[in-house]
Amino acid sequence: MGNINWTELSFGYVKTDYNVRSYYYEGKWSDLEITDSEQVPMHIAATCLHYGQEVFEGLKAFRGKDKKIRIFRMRENALRIRSSARGISMPELPVDMFEKAIITVINKNRRFVPPYESKASLYIRPLLVGMSAQVGIKAANEYLFVVFVIPVGPYFREGFKTTSVGIFREYDRAAPYGTGSYKVGGNYAASLVAGEIAHKKGYSAVLYLDAKEKKYIDECGPANFFGIKNNTYITPKSSSILPSITNKSLMQLVSSMGMKVERRQIPIEELITLDEAGMCGTAAVISPIYRIDDVDKNKSYIFSENREPGPVSIKLYNKLRAIQYGDEEDEFGWITVME
Ligand SMILES: *Cc1c(COP(=O)(O)O)cnc(C)c1O
Repeated sequence: MGNINWTELSFGYVKTDYNVRSYYYEGKWSDLEITDSEQVPMHIAATCLHYGQEVFEGLKAFRGKDKKIRIFRMRENALRIRSSARGISMPELPVDMFEKAIITVINKNRRFVPPYESKASLYIRPLLVGMSAQVGIKAANEYLFVVFVIPVGPYFREGFKTTSVGIFREYDRAAPYGTGSYKVGGNYAASLVAGEIAHKKGYSAVLYLDAKEKKYIDECGPANFFGIKNNTYITPKSSSILPSITNKSLMQLVSSMGMKVERRQIPIEELITLDEAGMCGTAAVISPIYRIDDVDKNKSYIFSENREPGPVSIKLYNKLRAIQYGDEEDEFGWITVME
């Protein structure tokens, strides 16, 4: 790879120099292996292929003005992949092993960490899959942990922008007490059809309601939901949503700014009272929403007539990004600065 046009990069696979791996075998994790191979040799009866024994993570590293590389909240991802692994009967990776893998894979691919000025970043994708042959429905006894990285362009190429999202009542992605709170590939497979319908109709994402009562906001396909009203940040509490690290960070930020935080059920009718609404996740930090359509009910909720993002969303977005790039002090201890 010669000169990369950092700002033209989208969110897609790019071959980098190395990935790191560890194998779980006879009850033990192997030492980290560094490889330039993009392939995984696998048994045809591996449990990840047949029964969806797969969990993943997503986090980012940023290059600051001082050229230093900063990793955002990697310990949180280490803890979450342990929780996801427990959720589908996989062995848990030690936190220090996860962190060592992240630091190693970044170090081995330093030339792919985009420069500060590009507003691009390095996306890190850890993956844990069941590898051993099993045809009866049972957890594997061998696993592969692999981490690769890709440089990704700025999410908002033409500046911070709003989109619309749609509620499609005939689709669910996760059930209460199912696997919604784990970052497993199966939840994404379950969301593909509704996602395609939404994109065809011009929505940027599907907003899911709780699967049981269809009364409360759950989350968007790949991002948590939040709303702003009366100096309060409101975000759903549900057993079928993924605990977003971005959302957790935003809650800490708004509290420190003197705003209130409410984590509770949000009835769909309450949408009409919100001043701002948005999605949050690692990819965009915040993706503000100007309109939500409850498609099957023919109802719309509008948050921004002129489609401009609201003031609180702008402030939170700028603040979190400033911490990630090292422009503002890391007062919460979220950043690992690499040597
Ligand atoms: C990963 C993910 C998110 C966002 O989590 P972050 O830690 O903020 O990136 C939200 N919802 C789902 C379903 C996810 O898989």
